[in-house]
Amino acid sequence: MQSQIRKIVIVGGGTAGWMAAAAFVKALGGHLYDIVLVESEDIGTVGVGEATIPPIMEYNAFLGIVEDEFVKATNATFKLGIEFRDWRRLGHSYFHPFGVFGADIDGFSFSHFYFRHYYQTGGGPVDIGKYNLATEAALQGRFGHLKREAGKPQLNYAYQFDAALYARFLRRYAEGRGVRRQEGCITDVRQHPETGFVTSVQLQDGRIIEGDLFMDCSGFRGLLIEQTLKTGYLDWSQWLPMDRAVAAPCERTNDLPPYTIATARESGWQWRIPLQHRTGNGHVFCSAYISEDAAADTLLAHLDGKLTSDPKVLRFTTGRRRKAWCKNVVALGLAGGFLEPLESTSIHLIQAGLAKFLALFPRHGFNPHIIAEYNAQIEEAYDNIKDFLIAHYKVSERNDSPFWRYVRQVEIPDSLQTRLDVFRATCQTLSRDTELFREVSWVAVLTGQGLTPEDYHPAADAMDDDELRLHLGQWRAAVLERVKTLPTHEDFIRRHYASDAFLNLQRA
Ligand code: FAD
Repeated sequence: MQSQIRKIVIVGGGTAGWMAAAAFVKALGGHLYDIVLVESEDIGTVGVGEATIPPIMEYNAFLGIVEDEFVKATNATFKLGIEFRDWRRLGHSYFHPFGVFGADIDGFSFSHFYFRHYYQTGGGPVDIGKYNLATEAALQGRFGHLKREAGKPQLNYAYQFDAALYARFLRRYAEGRGVRRQEGCITDVRQHPETGFVTSVQLQDGRIIEGDLFMDCSGFRGLLIEQTLKTGYLDWSQWLPMDRAVAAPCERTNDLPPYTIATARESGWQWRIPLQHRTGNGHVFCSAYISEDAAADTLLAHLDGKLTSDPKVLRFTTGRRRKAWCKNVVALGLAGGFLEPLESTSIHLIQAGLAKFLALFPRHGFNPHIIAEYNAQIEEAYDNIKDFLIAHYKVSERNDSPFWRYVRQVEIPDSLQTRLDVFRATCQTLSRDTELFREVSWVAVLTGQGLTPEDYHPAADAMDDDELRLHLGQWRAAVLERVKTLPTHEDFIRRHYASDAFLNLQRA
């Protein structure tokens, strides 16, 4: 039998590295495994991942993190979804919310009943968001914790936080449970002469750190997975041509909307993420259509507060590693791939990678079937997100710049083309339970971008007109009723979750 895996070396101390360290020590026990994390303060971290999606709750709950400690420590706010401005056309806006639209009827999706009503009442703008609690609460700037009640709309949410503070929070968690941190820059990676497995990393000062399993969390450079093992990268920039971002935080404004704003620009898009102590901003763009200087000028011209630090440019290629797990190296975070931050999926992919890896964690050696299974699961996760992101660009009426003309005419993957065709013809989104973006997300984004289904499921015709009107009316009333009970997002934070920085700003 192959020897037992005992020593885990995590290369990198960004969000990915510390998320891995915290999850390993919790799942495997700090006394049973020797877990070492190596990071270099000189190299630093990307540190701009600020917006998340609801599954982050599962990761935090797994660690046993108490919400108010975490929110205060990371200057977090609550997120109900993303408002997309100017994506379909200039001046248009729609909301991609968390949580469902309406209540399914006899196992059939609410959207089919909505579209029957929509056509019966003469069409016009699609306003299915009226039946989603997160959309209504977000548009009214409200947030709170609601008790789950059967048959009533629920409020699903995620967080927006300072990624550097999140990493620091997880570091305290992991170190407190036995993870050892080594500061230093890795200058050499050693491999077994026959198997090619990584055996140790060497730091600039000569220290050698040996391991059985290596987690590559070294960021875009992919120190082990690419620079050492040459796993290869699938470049998706023909579909997702963004290759730069300029990020620039500014002072926060008085209102604190419980959502992220993504505003389409001439050659990309801009994010606005409200935190307790500042507003995160960034312009994600394609350098074939706009220079870095011009992209920074565009960003700075659209800030609604004073800059708090200098703009920082980040460069990337959208895509993923051909294999996330190769030999005894598993890539997580930016070392594994990057799909641009439009739907806040990167931190989720770290979490999903960890959950899948821990589920398959080998006690002894490295079974090729387990490695292949892990890689297949990761591929599927990336592929689903890739198609969803491409749809935001492909389904648009914008025609006002070379960038928009390119992304609208580009030939898209067959899987996405099929989905768009089927949705247009039938209102079916073909989404599967294993996919991150389910029916609600596809309906929100495709209809928001301007793709209205021409038909709906025949089961929706079985309900008589009065019953359908009653069902829709009752759900809408329940949404409004629940929203009325919520405080404003800012009030909610001030009363229950205010960080020191938030309180200092209030006093100033
Ligand atoms: P990094 O933060 O780059 O960390 C790499 C680590 O490796 C560092 O600690 C570094 O010191 C260490 N390292 C590297 N080389 C060596 C070496 N030779 N020796 C020792 N240590 C080394 N995600 C979201 O979920 N939501 C968002 O809103 C979001 N927005 C983003 C916006 C932009 C513009 C970008 C680029 C990314 C965004 N992301 C977002 C992604 C998110 O930032 C990353 O997924 C997350 O920060 C994880 O990064 P990482 O830990 O993989 O890499």
